[in-house]
Amino acid sequence: MDLQGKVAIVTGAGSGIGRASSLLFAAHGAKVIATDITGKQDETAAQNPDAITAVQADASSEADVQMLVAKALELHGRLDVFFANAGISGGFDGIFDQTVEEWERILKINLIGPFLAIKHAGKVIADAGNGGSIICTASVAGLRSGAGGPAYTASKAGVINLVRIAAQQFTGSNVRCNAICPGLIETGMTEFIYTKAREKGFEDKIGQLNPMQRGGVPNEIAEAALFLASDRSSYVNGHALVVDGGLTSSHPYAR
Ligand code: NAD
Repeated sequence: MDLQGKVAIVTGAGSGIGRASSLLFAAHGAKVIATDITGKQDETAAQNPDAITAVQADASSEADVQMLVAKALELHGRLDVFFANAGISGGFDGIFDQTVEEWERILKINLIGPFLAIKHAGKVIADAGNGGSIICTASVAGLRSGAGGPAYTASKAGVINLVRIAAQQFTGSNVRCNAICPGLIETGMTEFIYTKAREKGFEDKIGQLNPMQRGGVPNEIAEAALFLASDRSSYVNGHALVVDGGLTSSHPYAR
């Protein structure tokens, strides 16, 4: 029970990595505020209603993030962990064909969302003096090009450096801030890739470039988030934890 007595907020909790993490955090003793923009957080909370409270919110809205922090304090009297996980992909056209509106849409949730989590939850956690953990979902797309559209790639690279400056910001407060860089994980976001591969009969190709010979599943990222949320990672700070089966660890020509 690594999170016994702790309170966690998880964004993007209606699907994929956020849902798996909410359930895993709760299974390890946390009280969880599971939040999503869609309403699907209700289905997540229904799987463990004693530990998980569903709250509909936009993780890229400053007012909503403040509301979520207030809700955690109102319900549980404390906040220890914020998993800024909500994100969107899109904008797969080349840079010359992209609009400012598309960039703003993607950066708002993928990069400004984590900033708001650090600003509001981080401040409350630091001021409480008990220490804590902020985790932001980046991506292997933030480490190299070719794993997402231009705005997505830039936003995830931004998240990786954001957690580094946040770790400095929290100096002396025992609040840690880290990123997770998932590889290809089967979730709502990547459903179109899996569906197309299955339709065309080349599902096995999905894992072909990966030393593990497969894509990942949401729980494999949730386990990494649990590690970063808990005191087991007490000296891990300002770090981008790659969880990709080894996809980005070697030169592509090696395969
Ligand atoms: P998903 O689509 O299954 O889940 C994302 C959830 O975020 C959805 O439920 C969606 O409604 C929610 N969301 C979107 N915008 C929101 C907003 N403004 N406020 C609140 N919630 C919002 O996808 P996932 O793969 O679980 O994505 C989780 C994170 O993992 C994202 O940040 C994504 O970029 C990142 N990621 C995913 C992969 C992958 O292969 N699936 C790889 C690398 C990184």
